[in-house]
Amino acid sequence: MAHFDIIIVGGGHGGAQAAIALRQQKFEGTIALISAEAELPYERPPLSKDYLAGEKAFERLLIRPAAFWHDRRVDMLLGRQVVSVDGDGKYLTLNGGEEIGYGHLIWAGGGLPRSLMCEGANLSGVHQIRSKADSDAILDEIGQVRNIAVIGGGYIGLEAAAVLRKMGKNVTVLEAQERVLARVAGPELSAFYESQHRAKGVDLRTGVTVEKLTGDGGQVAGVLLDSGEEIAAQMVIVGIGIIPSVGPLLKAGAAGGNGVDVDEYCRTSLPDIFAIGDCAAHANSFASGEVMRVESVQNANDMATAVAKTIMGDPGRYHATPWFWSNQYDLRLQTVGLSAGYDQTVVRGDMEAHSFSVIYLRAGRVIALDCVNAVKDYAQGRKLVEAAAMIAPELLSDTALTLKDILAESGQE
Ligand code: NAP
Repeated sequence: MAHFDIIIVGGGHGGAQAAIALRQQKFEGTIALISAEAELPYERPPLSKDYLAGEKAFERLLIRPAAFWHDRRVDMLLGRQVVSVDGDGKYLTLNGGEEIGYGHLIWAGGGLPRSLMCEGANLSGVHQIRSKADSDAILDEIGQVRNIAVIGGGYIGLEAAAVLRKMGKNVTVLEAQERVLARVAGPELSAFYESQHRAKGVDLRTGVTVEKLTGDGGQVAGVLLDSGEEIAAQMVIVGIGIIPSVGPLLKAGAAGGNGVDVDEYCRTSLPDIFAIGDCAAHANSFASGEVMRVESVQNANDMATAVAKTIMGDPGRYHATPWFWSNQYDLRLQTVGLSAGYDQTVVRGDMEAHSFSVIYLRAGRVIALDCVNAVKDYAQGRKLVEAAAMIAPELLSDTALTLKDILAESGQE
């Protein structure tokens, strides 16, 4: 049986960063990275932004060029799937039956897009956006398509809608919740993004239920809502969240359910198996210790670096400031902190001028900011989040003062 000192499962941001961080920290043993995808690790955020717009070549998405992995002796096992893990015997089995032993296993499996469960979900022309292949499939067909329905008003759906409008397509967004971005942002931000998409010509519907997709000779032709209305669409893009990819770990006995449970060092309940990124359910110190999965590049990268340190004998609790971004039209959203559990919001700046921040507080303390075209607030607001600063709302909304000054004057730096 082949054996590696460290096997990393997953070729996304977390998996790639784990290998990079291990070599940076002078890990000398053997490393293999297993990925179900055929490509070397690449950045996913552009898949619903400039890559989808055809403005960025795939080579520019690679996290590192091929020579980097070769020089750092990271064996890339691409196009391979892990079907089971034996936590006692410390080996895993790939599709095709090959068994490979490990010293430590770093599970960075990410997630797969949640599928629509209704009739018509398997028709041609129905797409998702999670991999290069997904975006390529959309680009292959886009020239023949005029009307596109986007199901889901999360970041995937809204970023895709912005790109498709810029291409001149007729776009309808269908969101089941009463507002877009409901899972990740407050109502002020949702209302702002809804108005912006509508102003750009998107037919954006909230609180709607998709009954089924209709077809014509195997090709999608429309979306039937439970109201009876049918929306014509020669292409449907589904962005309704992800399901964490942790099946083999849970079958091996790891604790978990919604993802796999990890402790503050990203250790699963199985010996020498870590989990990082979208699939790792952890107690997040920026959310009062609530157990959650954080689906972001930042979380994947920072957990990967923390695990590499732990393996190298320098364990540090995972405590990284959450941040996130989204580009839609000329709007650059930057988020810092986690807004879940907020009980008050403050709008700072000018929504009409497209430059403002929504500041989230819990029990009087700043827990997160969503900054739209407001880079300074984002950079300075980070310190307020890290200090969990207690600041009066009227001070936070006073743009005559910078957030830096407000924090300094409060004496909570
Ligand atoms: P998401 O953020 O979970 O949003 C999906 C939305 O679709 C939710 O509001 C969801 O409502 C709704 N929905 C679920 N089922 C539906 C249905 N049958 N019909 C209509 N709406 C439905 O997921 P996502 O936008 O697909 O994104 C997937 C992942 O990629 C996330 O982790 C996201 O953060 C990440 N991403 C990041 C970026 C970035 O870095 N800027 C960009 C794109 C994507 P419920 O909550 O009720 O299910």
